[in-house]
Amino acid sequence: MVSVEDVPNLIGGEERPARGGAWLDKLRPVDGERLCRLARSGAADVDDAVEAARAAQPAWAERTPVQRGDVVREIALALRARREQLAELVAAETGKPEQLALGEVDAAVEMGFFVAGEGRRSYGRTMPASMPHRAVLTVRRPVGVAGLIASFNTPLPNAAWKAFPAVFCGNAAVLKPSEHVPASAHALARLCAEAGLPAGVLNLVQGLGPEAGAALVEHSHVDLVSFTGSAATGRWVNERAGRRLAKVCLELGGKNALVVCDDADLDAAVRWATASAFSNAGQRCAAASRIVVLDGVYETFVQRLVEAARSLAPEPVISAEALERLLAAVAEARAAGATVLCGGDRLDRPGWYLPPTLLEGLAADAPIACTELFGPVALVFRARDFEEAVAIANESPYGLTAAVHTASVHRAMRFAELARAGVVVVNGGTHGSEPHMGFGGVKQSGTGWKEAGVEALDVYSDVVYVNLVSDPALA
Ligand code: NAD
Repeated sequence: MVSVEDVPNLIGGEERPARGGAWLDKLRPVDGERLCRLARSGAADVDDAVEAARAAQPAWAERTPVQRGDVVREIALALRARREQLAELVAAETGKPEQLALGEVDAAVEMGFFVAGEGRRSYGRTMPASMPHRAVLTVRRPVGVAGLIASFNTPLPNAAWKAFPAVFCGNAAVLKPSEHVPASAHALARLCAEAGLPAGVLNLVQGLGPEAGAALVEHSHVDLVSFTGSAATGRWVNERAGRRLAKVCLELGGKNALVVCDDADLDAAVRWATASAFSNAGQRCAAASRIVVLDGVYETFVQRLVEAARSLAPEPVISAEALERLLAAVAEARAAGATVLCGGDRLDRPGWYLPPTLLEGLAADAPIACTELFGPVALVFRARDFEEAVAIANESPYGLTAAVHTASVHRAMRFAELARAGVVVVNGGTHGSEPHMGFGGVKQSGTGWKEAGVEALDVYSDVVYVNLVSDPALA
């Protein structure tokens, strides 16, 4: 079993314990035993990290995009060279299978290559002006100091999606990873330094959200806050950073629908619904947590889905609190009249295991049907026809992803027109994203910014319109 040393902060290139000297225990999801300790940072540590970032940022921003992209490429190569060790660390911190963790390291590597390539693009626009002898072009400028706050579920991609475009755009950053995944974030930050990122350009502050995270959000020298996490925390972040008019990018939760039509390939639909609902123990913003099935195939599909769910090896959820929250939600659903088709009770073994759980018989607007649970719990709904299925899919305060399974191109197109989501998938899962595809939701899933893709450059840079007068005498 992998052994991990205590995880300090990384500020201005130096490893430092929290100023207050406090540590938190990080426990392993597979057995509840201690994996390591992490620095319990507070406002003073955040001050140090922000100052280190402010000091490092101007010289870093003086480098050209090509040069900054080259450094990001070196980081991606270093990540790839250590993929096995990193995956082992991620698996130990999260309890996920090593194969899944390996795929996530690869996803972070690919994000690095994609961002590095922007070094030779970062295209702007040129446009005419109404005045003669004048041309207008756009250039990107860094925002300044970026405060990056991430969730635990896919630790390396979560950090890479923020840190790589942030530093590439010429910002210096302070990353506050989730308290559940301190070690993989630390390993990534150290790799960045080894690969040539100057000291202070990426700083790491460990600790709890309401302590270290909140101090970062409220810091007057943090120009941009990029947050990935729950809608409840995101609302608080938006309010507090909004008061001082900082730029704020929020990537929040989902209650994503996967619709199975009566003309669907049921083998594929069962496979994708199972993977979308239960892989990574359902701890995905893009998990399929509402499965909507047309009347004509309801019994057959649900029976097969239950069989597939029962055959999965259970994965632990991230913490004892997460397990308690999920069990309470299942109890609430039972009290509201839901039938538990499979799962529903914790496994009698060490660690924090709830097996894949399917619930049926709730109204589409029941509280549990509208609340993200972020665990291996999905609800099944019966729809009379396609129109009702779309209505159920849209009956959610969130709008991150949605999928439809159908053989009809007309239904597929109509679903893409009507689904209120940032990503729509036809005949696939609700999850799955790639570095060149902008990712982000509508409604309470975010603030409209996209992460990844060239769209990420809009988050981490300001676009300046430069007016050029060719001949002042003529203009
Ligand atoms: P969370 O909101 O509890 O925490 C997210 C991060 O915010 C953590 O680092 C936490 O320490 C920090 N935090 C908590 N309180 C804070 C505060 N007051 N001020 C500043 N920071 C604070 O969420 P989580 O349990 O870590 O992650 C699960 C959530 O993340 C789910 O809602 C999931 O859908 C969402 N998520 C969204 C995306 C996306 O791209 N849209 C991706 C992954 C996860």
